Amino acid sequence: MEVKTNSPKETKKVAEKLAKDLAAGSVVALFGDLGAGKTVFVQGLAKGLGIKRRVISPTYVFMRSYPFLHHKKPLTFYHIDLYRGQDSGDFRNLGLEEVFSEEGIVVLEWAEKIRDVLPKKRIDVIINVTGEKNRKISIKNRK
Ligand code: ADP
Ligand code: MG
Repeated sequence: MEVKTNSPKETKKVAEKLAKDLAAGSVVALFGDLGAGKTVFVQGLAKGLGIKRRVISPTYVFMRSYPFLHHKKPLTFYHIDLYRGQDSGDFRNLGLEEVFSEEGIVVLEWAEKIRDVLPKKRIDVIINVTGEKNRKISIKNRK
C-alpha cells in the first residue's frame, strides 16, 4: 500500500489506521532518513493502540517499553531506535531476538541497520521525503 501525506498529523492518522491490524507478535520495521517521520509514525501507532503515555524517541536507551491493555489484555509496546548503532554487530548483545520472540508489539526505527536480524514476518513501513511537509509512505506485509 502506498499513501501520500502532507502533514505530521496525516502521517499519524495513517499509523493509527495500521495500528488496528497489529496484534501480539507484530513487528513493524520503519525505514527512512533522519527527519523522515519515523518517530511521528510510531506516535500514531501508539495512539491507535490506545497508549496514553507520550511516546518520545529513546535517545539514551535503545528501547522503551509501554505496557498497555490491548482489547483488555495486557501487552507491551516496544519502541526501538537503532539510530546510534552502526550495524547488526553492534546490536548482537542487546537481546533483540528476545524482544522479537516476545508476545508484544515491536516497532523499530532504522530497521535497515539490522536487516539480517529482522523477523521474516513483519510489516515494513518506508517513509520517503518528497517535500517539506510531504511524505510518501509505503506499507508492505512481509511473508
Ligand atoms: P525520524 O524519526 O524519521 O528521524 P521524526 O518523526 O522525529 O523523524 O521527525 C519528522 C519531522 O518532520 C517532524 O519535525 C515533523 O513535524 C516533520 N514533518 C513534516 N511533514 C511531515 C509529514 N507529512 N509526516 C511526518 N512528519 C512530517
Ligand atoms: Mg526518530
